[in-house]
Amino acid sequence: MSAKIENVVIVGTGCAGLTAAIYTGRANLGPLVLEGVQPGGQLTTTSEVENFPGFPEGIDGYQLMQNLRKQAEKFGTRYESGTVTGIDTSRWPYTLKLTDREIRAKTVIVATGASPRMTGIPGEKELFGGKGVTTCATCDGAFYRQMDVAVLGGGDSAAEEALFLTRFARKVYLVHRRDTLRASKIMSDRVLAHPKIQPVWDSVPVSVEGVAEGAVSGLKVKHVKTGAETVLPVKGVFVAIGHLPNTAPFKDAADTDDQGYFVPTGHSQVKTKTPGLYVAGDCADHHYRQAITAAGMGCQAAIEAERWLADKEA
Ligand code: NAP
Repeated sequence: MSAKIENVVIVGTGCAGLTAAIYTGRANLGPLVLEGVQPGGQLTTTSEVENFPGFPEGIDGYQLMQNLRKQAEKFGTRYESGTVTGIDTSRWPYTLKLTDREIRAKTVIVATGASPRMTGIPGEKELFGGKGVTTCATCDGAFYRQMDVAVLGGGDSAAEEALFLTRFARKVYLVHRRDTLRASKIMSDRVLAHPKIQPVWDSVPVSVEGVAEGAVSGLKVKHVKTGAETVLPVKGVFVAIGHLPNTAPFKDAADTDDQGYFVPTGHSQVKTKTPGLYVAGDCADHHYRQAITAAGMGCQAAIEAERWLADKEA
């Protein structure tokens, strides 16, 4: 273990983590940011972000994250790769356990976000990645030029994926288990008006076809009211049915709800039952889940960490 004790370690490089880095950096705390498997978080897989204040023309999700990263760097943020597997809070400064090392920290801000939820149907796992099942239209959409694809889900993510895919695909089936979309009205209206998008209402996915061939050849769906099964002749399946919070390594140090999201302690949105340990962004919020709300929580967590540390060391 390194002898160095960090003032603040921020776990995660999404909007929440990088905003916390900007604030703790400007407070001269020299934050260390740990980057996991998806640097930049979910926004890097989004195309255009139209609702982040200050960008009237919209901004590319990847570019927004690059900007935040640069801004945090300007104030002394350091970045390291690392996957946290647990935290020991029995002794302060706390010890973060990573797969390959340990890091001691006076304060920790957990901004680990959420990962895509999968359906678990046969064929999904086998054909994930370059074989036709994916969770990222921005990353993989261009592979499906003039092909038919299916998007699973009825929320804003599914709507966004479906609309993005219309740039490439010949036809986009939107498979939803109910007969109305959960997505916001503006997104729903766009989806329903798009000539390339064909909603498949009241239908659940049953299996992804093509395992033997090693590539997606279809998606079997079942009508929830009639029980009728149909195979949609698609080459790509885009899963967009929500997310699961990445909170497991911190479960002993911070309370979570039955879905695994962090539950804050007291009046603050970001405090946990462990003094000096804060949570921010999608790992602690299943209600708003917006870039700007995650950034706001990152800011709150940074201010709390800075004040707590100042009091502790006064
Ligand atoms: P979501 O709102 O939770 O929607 C998940 C969708 O997947 C729902 O339609 C749900 O069906 C369906 N679903 C869940 N489990 C399923 C299963 N096992 N099989 C089939 N369908 C299943 O998640 P999201 O779309 O990722 O959005 C998350 C949050 O981010 C929301 O607050 C959203 O507004 C926000 N967001 C905003 C934007 C934007 O503003 N541009 C873009 C993306 C996301 P039911 O409807 O029946 O529950």
